[in-house]
Amino acid sequence: MFGRVPKKSDNSRYYEILGVPKNASSDDLKKAYKKSAIKKHPDKGGDPEKFKELAQAYEVLSDPEKREIYDQYGEDALKEGMGGGGGMPSPFNIFSSLFGGSPCGGAGSSRGRREKRGEDLVYPLKVSLEDLYNGTTRKLSLSRHIICSKCYGKGSKSGALMKCSGCQGTGMKVVIRQLGSSIIQKMHHPCNECRGTGETINDKDCCPQCKGEKVVPEKKVLEVIVEKGMQNGQKITFPGKADEAPDTITGNIIVVLEQKEHPKFERKSDDLFYEHTLSLTEALCGFQFILTHLDDRQLLIKSNKEEVAKPDSFKAINDEGMPMYQRPSMKGKLYIHFTVEFPDSLSLEQVKALEVVLPPRPSRENMKLDECEETTLHDVNIEEEMRRKQAQRKEAYEEDEDMHGGPQRVQCAQQ
Ligand SMILES: [Zn+2]
Ligand SMILES: [Zn+2]
Repeated sequence: MFGRVPKKSDNSRYYEILGVPKNASSDDLKKAYKKSAIKKHPDKGGDPEKFKELAQAYEVLSDPEKREIYDQYGEDALKEGMGGGGGMPSPFNIFSSLFGGSPCGGAGSSRGRREKRGEDLVYPLKVSLEDLYNGTTRKLSLSRHIICSKCYGKGSKSGALMKCSGCQGTGMKVVIRQLGSSIIQKMHHPCNECRGTGETINDKDCCPQCKGEKVVPEKKVLEVIVEKGMQNGQKITFPGKADEAPDTITGNIIVVLEQKEHPKFERKSDDLFYEHTLSLTEALCGFQFILTHLDDRQLLIKSNKEEVAKPDSFKAINDEGMPMYQRPSMKGKLYIHFTVEFPDSLSLEQVKALEVVLPPRPSRENMKLDECEETTLHDVNIEEEMRRKQAQRKEAYEEDEDMHGGPQRVQCAQQ
């Protein structure tokens, strides 16, 4: 069973077998391998198991892609990543590829096909802020290709492959085009008959399960563990769970979290922001309200004694923000943003009553009123009005450009 990124498990054993440090260069690896391979070769009385291990270690560490997977996830991920088909190649093949010729004198050299890396499959997963706060497990159904279990990815019943007649087994077709009298263009295309593999399967020999495709579709349910404190855009990787293909290191399935917007809370890193509107009475005379948190806990929020809440002000509550990823007992802050709702108008009586309790107005004594002009205040939607004016200015400017653009403007600038 999988469902989460494998723990950084044993990823030093191969280095120990070869007796090199983790940052060894490929040259160091090669030298170290040659030295101990000669010493430990079964022909020289070495333990075949030990020799196999050595070859396995070198096979992985000498391939930059495999080495990367091994460094990150250890041996197990690599075995999974190799798919059901290939498995580890024989240690003798590696030995012979390094020294030339088979040490056993046998003829059976492999075709030396280099394994390529399969593509990663990326799936977005929508989650709520509650999911990221509390953590959750989600099931993701998907379909992928796996190596056919009947023919082990050979595509044929007998395992026999024929050289493709379309490309003589090269996998490429050459198209020659005459461009002009003396120019000839040679173009290489992957062969369409064998899809670039260079091999075909006899119709009668075709695997009945995969019809020669070597892979079959599989429905799979991935269990994605969304941990507390994970972020929008965070990737959860399932190594070696993407499409399998022969001679290919299976790519990863990568689940990318996409957080849906929350109507009440906004997240910024480990902190949460919450909007709350107070009436003027609450702002002046004190307030209390219940805030339902992302885990449904009810927080009682109270103003401090005799403190006035100002419009557009913030207050913070410690340790009620988001849990920190992989340290969920630590939490950020919860910020509350206060908006104060003022009444639209007050009656004369209300004004009189308020003036009794509120601080006095600034004195009018120094105002020379007869020297002033009367004005009227109008209602205005300031944002709307500014937008309109900016659009007007832009239009006027463009018209101006059209009327006397170009040379004349240069002239003006020179004066
Ligand atoms: Zn072909
Ligand atoms: Zn098959």
